[in-house]
Amino acid sequence: MRPEILFPLFADVTTLPGLGPRLGKLVQSAIGPHVADLLWHLPSGIIDRSYAPKLAEVAPSRIATLTVRIDTHLPPPAPRRPYRVMASDASGELEIVFFHAKGDYLVKLLPVGETRLVSGRVEMFQGRPQMTHPDYIAKPEEAAEVTGIESVYPLTAGLNLKTLRKSVRAALDRVPALPEWGNAPYLAQQRWPAFQAALESVHAPKTEADLLPITPARQRLAYDELLANQLALSLIRAHQKKQSGRVIAGDGQLRRKVEAALPFSLTEGQRQALADIAADMASPKKMLRLLQGDVGSGKTVVALMAMLAAVESGGQAALLAPTEILARQHAAGIARLAAPAGVTVTLLTGREKGKNREAILAGLASGETGIVIGTHALLQEDVVFRDLMLAVVDEQHRFGVHQRVTIGAKGPKGKGGVDVLVMTATPIPRTLTLTAYGDLDVSRLTEKPAGRKPITTIAKPTEALEEVVSGVTRALNAGAKVYWVCPLVEESEVIDVAAAEERHAHLSQIFGARAGLVHGRLKGAEKDRVMEAFAKGSVDLLVSTTVIEVGVDVPEATVMVIEHAERFGLAQLHQLRGRIGRGDKPSTCILLYQKPLSETADSRLRILRETEDGFVIAEEDLKLRGAGEVLGTRQSGMPTFRVADLAVHGDLLQAARDDARLLLDRDPELQGPRGQALRILLYLFERDAAVRYLRSG
Ligand code: ADP
Ligand code: MG
Repeated sequence: MRPEILFPLFADVTTLPGLGPRLGKLVQSAIGPHVADLLWHLPSGIIDRSYAPKLAEVAPSRIATLTVRIDTHLPPPAPRRPYRVMASDASGELEIVFFHAKGDYLVKLLPVGETRLVSGRVEMFQGRPQMTHPDYIAKPEEAAEVTGIESVYPLTAGLNLKTLRKSVRAALDRVPALPEWGNAPYLAQQRWPAFQAALESVHAPKTEADLLPITPARQRLAYDELLANQLALSLIRAHQKKQSGRVIAGDGQLRRKVEAALPFSLTEGQRQALADIAADMASPKKMLRLLQGDVGSGKTVVALMAMLAAVESGGQAALLAPTEILARQHAAGIARLAAPAGVTVTLLTGREKGKNREAILAGLASGETGIVIGTHALLQEDVVFRDLMLAVVDEQHRFGVHQRVTIGAKGPKGKGGVDVLVMTATPIPRTLTLTAYGDLDVSRLTEKPAGRKPITTIAKPTEALEEVVSGVTRALNAGAKVYWVCPLVEESEVIDVAAAEERHAHLSQIFGARAGLVHGRLKGAEKDRVMEAFAKGSVDLLVSTTVIEVGVDVPEATVMVIEHAERFGLAQLHQLRGRIGRGDKPSTCILLYQKPLSETADSRLRILRETEDGFVIAEEDLKLRGAGEVLGTRQSGMPTFRVADLAVHGDLLQAARDDARLLLDRDPELQGPRGQALRILLYLFERDAAVRYLRSG
């Protein structure tokens, strides 16, 4: 339960002054539902109102606060003309202009003969300073309120700065005195302010430099947020490690048969990963391991070996894939590799229906099926295993932690948890691995299988399309297989498909039936047919939307054309390109771009030309985009941060992790004084799901 001391911060934003139901809704959707959300809504700029010149000296186009005497009101001479108020000081005159103004209101606001402060942007008009719609009008005794430096916040349509600023101020006033959760010597060494002082400070920048993420106050808050994240992950990890697993050793006979029949020998990285996995499975603890390996690094065979270990032990294994195409391809590939061992591999997706589906479910329930590969369909409640020992989750970033837990819960009751192996081809930078997968052990496949030829990547403007088509013709005539990827036009898949269909029609005129088309809206069977034709023969040129992004494996494909490459993210381009360069022939990737290129798009294409190393690309991506965007956020199961910016605060993350681990060693249930304070921190940053893993107290 949330500690009482935080109740004021988790009240609805509509309880703040000035935020009625209408504005409240805006704030809720743009910033967040709770008062605390406003605390993390940090200023993006400042307005300096301390500039207060005499009228004769005022510089144009600057925000100024002017002290003037009100001389005359000039109501509009005709409808739609402005209302003007003339004012002056000893040095000159000022014209204050209002459109659509109510005269009686202005007469009260700016009474003739009195002195007022007006603050706003000054422009010169016909040689005279003019201010249109002052931001502030104040009496001289209120000067302190308008002459300062103001914070500027990112806004949403319909919400104005003054209202938002007032709400943030009110939110700050509701921050209770909280116990210090930081490690005192570390805080002292960093010379950071206390939490509340840091909050006040980040919301009251005095200079542009105060807006940078490296100020002590911003670092302090970033650290707090990262500490909450790392503590939560450490708690989940400690909990999962306590859950017992099963001793799954196997006698190695199936694995030996499969390995002997492989057309290649395993890489050192694959061997090491398999050793890690075998040790995890053989231990009485539950396995929770992430297998990270760039596209084409050979994760599938590692997954198969792990699954065979479960089958050798008399159990079953399941592999969960994010798309239909990928599930089918895995099933076909794995069945082929597993054949020498005589293990039955079954496929279950949304397309298996009726009697067929019943038969598959029966095979799983009886234990006759050793290995099942499928999509989300595997997660359905009526999918029951006789003895599920291992769950493999492929391309984990496509799933949330939730799916990982659901499949993991399909083991037999009372025998210990299902071992879980998650695999990802997305080369996540180390920093992000720590925040998203801090609860997993990690194995990495860093080398590519031997004999791979490098991919030459070139970028060409769209104008060179004809030239590219002739290049493709030459490649096809020489026996190559070619991917032609059409761009992401819009959020809407319908429009993407239209673009792909159009390109397919164009290329069909040249290549006839050798050009195939695949996209997400094709019926399953049709998709299979085209993929099959591309893998096996009659189709040599595959026009597609980005459905081929994940995992598709046709080693003979050596050319890829990506249209409008400037619209894709770096990681996505890398994933796409990973479809080629898989065989023993050199490959070429042509990035077609539309001029003019933005600076970031230009950097992206340059990085791709320079390197094929997924980890280098991931680090660059992080720099170009910021962590929040690297993998998309919520739907990918990646955590989002409010204050911390991982591109800048990566070193704080490491420190937070060490701090969290050390603390949990000493106080695993968060009972001590610092532990109690840290519980508050977890709730404050809404990482409280982890708190339920603590005993009450
Ligand atoms: P990914 O890691 O992207 O899932 P895959 O498992 O699909 O990669 O492997 C890519 C290709 O490399 C497949 O054709 C696979 O048969 C092949 N492969 C896997 N391991 C090796 C190896 N050790 N030596 C040579 N080829 C390999
Ligand atoms: Mg185990």
